[in-house]
Amino acid sequence: MALILGIESTAHTFGVGIVKNRKILANLKDSYKTDSGGIIPMEAAKHHREKSKEIYEGALKISGVEENEIQGIAISNAPGLAPCLVEGMKFAKELSKKLKIPIIPVNHCIAHLEVGSSIKNGPKDPVMLYVSGANTQVIAYSSGKYRIFGEILDIGVGNFIDNFARHIGIGFPGGPKVEILAANGKNYIELPYKVKGMDIALSGILTNLKQKVEKKKHNKEDLCYSLQETVFAMLVEVAERALAHTGKKELLLGGGVGCNKRLQEMCRIMCKERGCEFFVPENSLLVDNGAMIAFLGEKMFKKGIKFQEKELHKVDIQPRQRTDEVEVKWK
Ligand code: AMP
Ligand code: MG
Repeated sequence: MALILGIESTAHTFGVGIVKNRKILANLKDSYKTDSGGIIPMEAAKHHREKSKEIYEGALKISGVEENEIQGIAISNAPGLAPCLVEGMKFAKELSKKLKIPIIPVNHCIAHLEVGSSIKNGPKDPVMLYVSGANTQVIAYSSGKYRIFGEILDIGVGNFIDNFARHIGIGFPGGPKVEILAANGKNYIELPYKVKGMDIALSGILTNLKQKVEKKKHNKEDLCYSLQETVFAMLVEVAERALAHTGKKELLLGGGVGCNKRLQEMCRIMCKERGCEFFVPENSLLVDNGAMIAFLGEKMFKKGIKFQEKELHKVDIQPRQRTDEVEVKWK
């Protein structure tokens, strides 16, 4: 029996989730947004500082849990933007001291994968296609660690879509808007297809798309449609090859771009053709959120992976931690 609070603050989102025995009791968040331009780390950190108390109290209220029932605080301490991570860590440590309960440091990317097992009859040992703003990776468990089988070489797929969306003036976040425009696209426009072994590159496609916008030959709908068809095919190709290499039989989607229905459909078709099972969590667990941090935090807590209040000096942020640096001791 464990009741764990999870805090997410690696990038644009400040989220608090509460999990009790694998059941998600609350998952509340607020995200920093901009009208134009990308994330300014110090501004996002300020957002987190200002919203943290409200989100924390809101999550407690939704869950019906009293502060003194919480047994541990899971905090996503890696990877992410340093100023944002610092805010989350400060909040977690203050709470840890106040409530006299331990802290559980959680890797954000692994939390995206582990929360897949909260799905009813969910995956047991999946390959995860993790597609978020800054991160794009194909990850799977092998010999004690989550290994990266393929990844983006330049910009994360969400940031790529957001950058293109800003360029055509449809605002941030661009993903949902590009998806709507794409649904009305009729003509496929040839774009560069950049899969390099198990990795993919997107900056060349972004430049190519922007050049096409300047030439004004194509409408936005066709460009968005062609962007999705090309880039999602690249992602699905790499995910499929990871399934083939590892012999695993389950694909899990994670990250905000995973909300895209066309990407989900392409994954589903590929899995059906290979005789694999496809899993996609609900949208609130795909985007950055506190519940996934609490969910993995609970697994770690139950295996004794935690730092008591006296050991808090040993816990720090790790902005550049790689998925395969983490020893998976909770399985
Ligand atoms: P995350 O960093 O995991 O919270 O994901 C944020 C990213 O997901 C942003 O770049 C969004 O543009 C993207 N996103 C959200 N919804 C969609 C969608 N329906 N289609 C494509 N991308 C999306
Ligand atoms: Mg994420």
